[in-house]
Amino acid sequence: MPDLSKLVALSRLYGGDPDWVLAGGGNTSYKEGDRLYVKASGTSLGSISEDGFCAMDRSALDAMWEASYPEESEAREAAALADLMASRLPGEGKRPSVETLMHGLFPQAYVVHTHPAAVNGITCGREGREAFDRLFAEEGIWVPFVDPGYILAKTVRAALEEFRARKGRLPSIMLMQNHGFLVAAENPAEIESISARAMAKVAGAVRRFPDLSARSADALALAEAAATLASLRGAGACLRFVSDAETLALSGSRQAFAPLSSSFTPDHIVYAGHEFLLADSASAEGLRSAWAAFVSRNGSPPRIVLVPGLGAFSCAASAGAAATALLLYTDACKVAAFAESFGGALHMTKEKIDFIRNWEVEKYRSAVSAGK
Ligand SMILES: [Zn+2]
Repeated sequence: MPDLSKLVALSRLYGGDPDWVLAGGGNTSYKEGDRLYVKASGTSLGSISEDGFCAMDRSALDAMWEASYPEESEAREAAALADLMASRLPGEGKRPSVETLMHGLFPQAYVVHTHPAAVNGITCGREGREAFDRLFAEEGIWVPFVDPGYILAKTVRAALEEFRARKGRLPSIMLMQNHGFLVAAENPAEIESISARAMAKVAGAVRRFPDLSARSADALALAEAAATLASLRGAGACLRFVSDAETLALSGSRQAFAPLSSSFTPDHIVYAGHEFLLADSASAEGLRSAWAAFVSRNGSPPRIVLVPGLGAFSCAASAGAAATALLLYTDACKVAAFAESFGGALHMTKEKIDFIRNWEVEKYRSAVSAGK
């Protein structure tokens, strides 16, 4: 086993910083010779240690490009996942990140893939592609939103080869529409300088930063709304609450809520649900009817409920899941604010949202995050 201490330190650096990664999101990798060490699925970057990485055989991963997979998405992902599992080195028992194939495509030794809200203001912006062309075309590639897993890796592969043929060098960054960011370099110091430079460029193009300053909520109204939501969620409900300037503005009207009315990225769906519920009022009756309409529309209860004039609640079966849902909700508020500078919010399509909701791999991640 090679020395993975630099990979561990790099992973914790970005994994421990909420501006880059939240919950179980993001992943990192390191290549040495014929081996690739990639974050195992269900592991958190912020607290990862050497045994949180899955050892892969790079030749076996490369051989996946010679294979042909079924057209139908479920059969395709199942076959690709089986080949991915078979590409582990002998004795490796962990499950590699679903983005492993993508890591393997970059020849650089280190790859750090994150989901920073500021960068996602571009990847989830209607004019995101234009902003990318202005800011990053010389050093990076843009990948449109496609189904995660095999199809994403295939799309990245084509973009990487196109850049290489055109520029005669490797891209060092990648922006992934409605998803996130990736940096590839030969050593951790380069990863840090490329990342810092990219973040500064994004910040320079942002006209309004999210205002997450706390707002105090009326204690009685808050207690009443919490009691109503707890009874709607049923026995064992865990609630978390936040009130800040963005939330109060976004929950002010249907029109103001539009940027949050659908999903930005797969991580938002996995951890905070594909749809947030905006109640019409803080009254018990208002909450009950909005909740009932949500359940009949979606077949499951909301994980995030915005209450006008009050704030946002997360409702889940465990305290951990409620806290994580609220983190991802706040991240969506940030993405919405950043996206204002890049043409306004661009959500995933319904078809892509449904793919994530049904995806076996994402179900596994949801189960891990819920502590099942
Ligand atoms: Zn990702």
